[in-house]
Amino acid sequence: AAISVMAEEKRKASFDADKAGVIVKELRQEYNSGKTKTYEWRVAQLEGISRMVDEREKDIIEALNTDLSKPEFEAFVAEINMIKSACKLAIKELKQWMMPEKVKTPLTTFPSSAEIVSEPLGIVLVISTWNYPFLLSIDPVIGAIAAGNAVLLKPSEIAPATSSLIANLFQEYVDNTSIKVVEGAVEETSVLLEQKWDKIFYTGSGRVGRIVMAAAAKHLTPVVLELGGKCPVVVDSDVNLQVAARRIIAGKWSCNSGQTCTAADYVITTIDFASKLVMQLFLLISYNIAGLSSELDNFFGKDPLESKDMSRVVNLYHFRRLIKLMEEDGVSDKIVLGGQTDEVQLKIAPTILVDAPKDSAVMTEEIFGPLLPIVTVEKIEDCFELIKSKPKPLAAYLFTNNEKLKKAFVKDVSAGGMLINDTILHLTVDALPFGGVGESGMGYYHGKFSFEAFSHKKAVMYRSFDGDSSIRYPPYTLKKLNL
Ligand code: NAD
Repeated sequence: AAISVMAEEKRKASFDADKAGVIVKELRQEYNSGKTKTYEWRVAQLEGISRMVDEREKDIIEALNTDLSKPEFEAFVAEINMIKSACKLAIKELKQWMMPEKVKTPLTTFPSSAEIVSEPLGIVLVISTWNYPFLLSIDPVIGAIAAGNAVLLKPSEIAPATSSLIANLFQEYVDNTSIKVVEGAVEETSVLLEQKWDKIFYTGSGRVGRIVMAAAAKHLTPVVLELGGKCPVVVDSDVNLQVAARRIIAGKWSCNSGQTCTAADYVITTIDFASKLVMQLFLLISYNIAGLSSELDNFFGKDPLESKDMSRVVNLYHFRRLIKLMEEDGVSDKIVLGGQTDEVQLKIAPTILVDAPKDSAVMTEEIFGPLLPIVTVEKIEDCFELIKSKPKPLAAYLFTNNEKLKKAFVKDVSAGGMLINDTILHLTVDALPFGGVGESGMGYYHGKFSFEAFSHKKAVMYRSFDGDSSIRYPPYTLKKLNL
């Protein structure tokens, strides 16, 4: 521990505005050389990342396990495979994405033609977070490279094993003059934010999102802010209860123990249906409850704290933050399942609370951990008012067979994205944009949207010297207007 503190101090001392300036200058020179704009360079880098993921899969799984005790299955499905797919798609589609898009011109400009040309923005800064530290660092970088930019990535210091692995792997697999990694925390990020970038892509909390946006404003730098919020899950009584319960669990505890920006933050259901839903969740989470659940139907075994299929809380700070949420006055007696904790392993059992006070922290702050409050309402339509009383979430989920309710939900609930009858999966559809709205963020990426997030759509018009009517030139006379 002492050695790592010393290494941290040394790193801090060695990174200052001058160093950041040198890096930015080099990136700018590389970009200005035109190298990163070529199709060949872009594809070579994307292939490098693809190879890196194939060849170093074990190292990536190990780093994710060190940082979060992330189960290998989750590491593969939710991080490694997502990057493989993103690279594959970008390599396959890049020529098409780079092609100028012809558009129609008005008769008044005849003869003419016009097209939209996607041009790279220049040098871009990607600041990443710790919950999917591999995916959320590399995924935006794929978009930035595909669009032809030079990139600097700053991974999260809260997932140090993954951060350091990415820094080392990038040395080996991509062009280090145009794609760089700076490791570090607040100090290093603050220094980087003082520099002039052509785009900043930030993933993390709204608190820091505001700092990023303020820094970007000084240089009129555009930003993408991928933030979080409280994602509601509405459960109607007209559902397949077992499937709904499984998918809620999958979108909460099987997703990094709830440390996912699109994780179910709270459930809304009716007073009449709540007990059925809670019982179904119990059966799947709590082994052999009342002799009813079988080992096969149970997700986390006899003792969820010992389950290898659930990540731990990332660090002591977040562990204590979550305990405080559970221990607040008026909240602790609302726990109906779970509540067990293990500070040594940084684990908290899946915990369900029913009707915690509306003004409690667990109901007002993003939980980002394995606690799931259930809020009961008289009738399911009351969910609209409750959701609208909070900032717009990154994702909203609804479980129902009722078509009218689905339509009303899609029309009336504002959210970054939504998914009916499941959780999380919408963000694996690369034809859908992924991003927030309101306080859950601005801008979006994934698939072609990633390319566009790092491109400028340049309007280009072509004319010849023909058709030079005198009507547009002075002297202006009514006759010229045919009046
Ligand atoms: P964070 O904002 O604390 O940290 C993210 C990054 O910002 C890190 O790289 C960190 O070094 C840097 N940073 C932290 N403090 C800073 C400061 N004062 N000045 C400059 N830089 C600073 O966020 P977090 O705790 O890592 O992430 C949790 C939040 O991120 C949650 O709200 C979650 O919902 C959200 N999130 C969103 C997405 C998404 O894709 N929309 C994905 C994951 C997490």
